[in-house]
Amino acid sequence: MAVPQAPLRTQSIQYVKGVGPRRVTQLRQLGLTNLEDACYFPPRRYEDRTRLVAIRDLAPGEPNTVRGTIVTTGLRRIHRGQTIFEAAIEDPSGVLHGIWFNQPYLAQQLKAGEELILYGKLEPGGRPQMVHPEIERVDPEEHGSIHMGRIVPIYPLTSGVGQRWLRQVIAEVVERVSGALQDPLPRRLLDGRGWPALPEAVRELHFPTSMQAMEAARERLAFEELLLLQLGLAQRRARTVAQIKPQRYRLDGPLTQALHRRMPFQLTADQQRVLGELLADLSEPSPMHRLLQGDVGCGKTIVMVLLMAGAVENGHQVVLMAPTELLAEQHARTIQGLLGPLRVSAALLSQGVVAAERRPIVEGIADGTISIVIGTHALLQKDVAFKRLALVVIDEQHKFGVTQRSALARKARMADVLVVTATPIPRTLALTIYGDLEISTINQLPPGRAPIKTLWMHEVERSDLYGLLREELRQGRQGYVVYPLVEPIRLRSGFDPERSRGIEEQATQEVRAATQMAKQLQQEVFPEFKIGLLHGQMKPKQKEQVMHAFAGGELSLLVSTVIVEVGLDVPNATAMVIEHPERFGLAQLHQLRGRIGRSNLPATCVVVSDSDDEAVRERLSAFVRTTDGFQLAEKDLEIRGPGELRGSRQHGVVRFRIADLIRDRALLEDARQEAAGVVGHDPDLKDPALAVLRDRLARFQEQS
Ligand code: ADP
Ligand code: MG
Repeated sequence: MAVPQAPLRTQSIQYVKGVGPRRVTQLRQLGLTNLEDACYFPPRRYEDRTRLVAIRDLAPGEPNTVRGTIVTTGLRRIHRGQTIFEAAIEDPSGVLHGIWFNQPYLAQQLKAGEELILYGKLEPGGRPQMVHPEIERVDPEEHGSIHMGRIVPIYPLTSGVGQRWLRQVIAEVVERVSGALQDPLPRRLLDGRGWPALPEAVRELHFPTSMQAMEAARERLAFEELLLLQLGLAQRRARTVAQIKPQRYRLDGPLTQALHRRMPFQLTADQQRVLGELLADLSEPSPMHRLLQGDVGCGKTIVMVLLMAGAVENGHQVVLMAPTELLAEQHARTIQGLLGPLRVSAALLSQGVVAAERRPIVEGIADGTISIVIGTHALLQKDVAFKRLALVVIDEQHKFGVTQRSALARKARMADVLVVTATPIPRTLALTIYGDLEISTINQLPPGRAPIKTLWMHEVERSDLYGLLREELRQGRQGYVVYPLVEPIRLRSGFDPERSRGIEEQATQEVRAATQMAKQLQQEVFPEFKIGLLHGQMKPKQKEQVMHAFAGGELSLLVSTVIVEVGLDVPNATAMVIEHPERFGLAQLHQLRGRIGRSNLPATCVVVSDSDDEAVRERLSAFVRTTDGFQLAEKDLEIRGPGELRGSRQHGVVRFRIADLIRDRALLEDARQEAAGVVGHDPDLKDPALAVLRDRLARFQEQS
């Protein structure tokens, strides 16, 4: 392979020796199409093959690497076409057994006499044994090659692509062309950071001379990636600031003042500060693009309503979108309660609104007689057109997709946009997801809130649990009993029709479980109290009735699926039981718990679980330990990793190749600052020293 003259990204991976058309297709599965991709393709892990472990010294716990010769192999068929393949591997110190279930083809690939590298965990007890160790065949000639006697990269694979073959291909690319890589980072950014130059960084990423050298290289490449992300966000911020919006506001008019007088409480200092930030945005010539975040129950609604009143009294239209009908209805009631007497016309538009009622509402929105429109994503329908929409507010925005958000904003020209979330997001995630937004945070809860007590109980304590609940209901308080309802976005790996059918079935089962539970609790456990049932498969009107009855205190206990998760506000509800909490992520548990503890009454939340799954136990202990949503979010990120964060993909979180949002927090802040500096001086990166960076940025944005 000759050193190519053109940029590496225009050179197909097919130029590498041994890569034919069939291989090209396979490599594309891994995201490898050109030589540049291969340079930036990070190993999944590394194996220090200068330090192999003797079979006799293996201990259960951490995975280890051993090298040995196959002495015997055997394939057994067990019931229903299942197979077990076994190989005994020997080194000078002893014998190790490798076991593979349902991989009968291994019998063709692994023969006695061959040398193998195995990587896996020793099973505790019995004979030395590893189940499904990773394996790689060794060529006895190859001491000191890229595969042996050094720190060796282990890459992610795809079907048909073997570890050794891929390592060979990448080694070839790195050796021949890494010197031709053009460094996107200008000198100024590299100075003083102690990172290797790009070609060396790429070599160390793949074939490290030491793990320290690899880490420095990885950091440098991660920074590059984070910088690209932050540059894009900084450019978006800069573009927003450059816009001049058509709407104008004069603040603190008679409507706002009257609303302040009607409020049943005083704003907290935090609410006041944040409201000040939002109003200041309205006064700016450029459109507002702001995120309001604050833990469940901190009082975001009243801040939203005050802001909306400010827009309405300037003659503008306002829209408030919420993710569920229940929440939209609740908001409509709150807003009509506060602003109706002040002669502000507000209307609800959700799926539950029947055609005959819908028509006059849509007309009122179009002719401007309705000032505040509250609704669900039903608002996004084409025929909903505003006369003079100026302010868009999206509550519980993490429940919406990026496209839904912008679809609503597009119903106005340069609307002021406020997105509100109760799911506290760790700062690193906020900087990636909302990097183009200003962020306002409410940190304190309204005064006098008693802390929520959280208990983790077991099945055997169920009668104690019911006793506890009865005590609460006897005092005239109310409670929730929640059953999980798994939504498709909680799937681990994207959309999979196979699995989503399973989910739907699960959902039906859970509705059944909730329905049955409601009946049982009513008849057998709490005959003296009125119990209601609420789930997503009920008709909108039914849901509304049940919710209304619960909010009005006619029902003592509400048995429901997870549809009560967001936004609902029934201050007299002080007890919550979460069944099968192992089915929820931490963020979601926290949201659920946020339905109680919304007044000065002490509140109790109980999770019932006998699970002995380690991750579940870790989650539940964190949940019991703290009611601080930010801490829980950090913990969630730590346990699950950013890709797994609930709905994070839907948020448009970029999938990084090299950067890691947990490990690289400091780098992310660093990149954000540098990006702001670069874009501040040169918004379009016109400086010739930034040409390579500009080019990379364009491609980064195409890909993400
Ligand atoms: P969230 O931030 O979760 O949307 P809400 O806006 O629903 O919370 O407020 C939670 C509860 O706290 C509501 O019952 C609301 O009336 C009450 N609340 C909000 N602000 C205050 C305040 N400053 N003082 C007392 N109660 C308040
Ligand atoms: Mg809310």
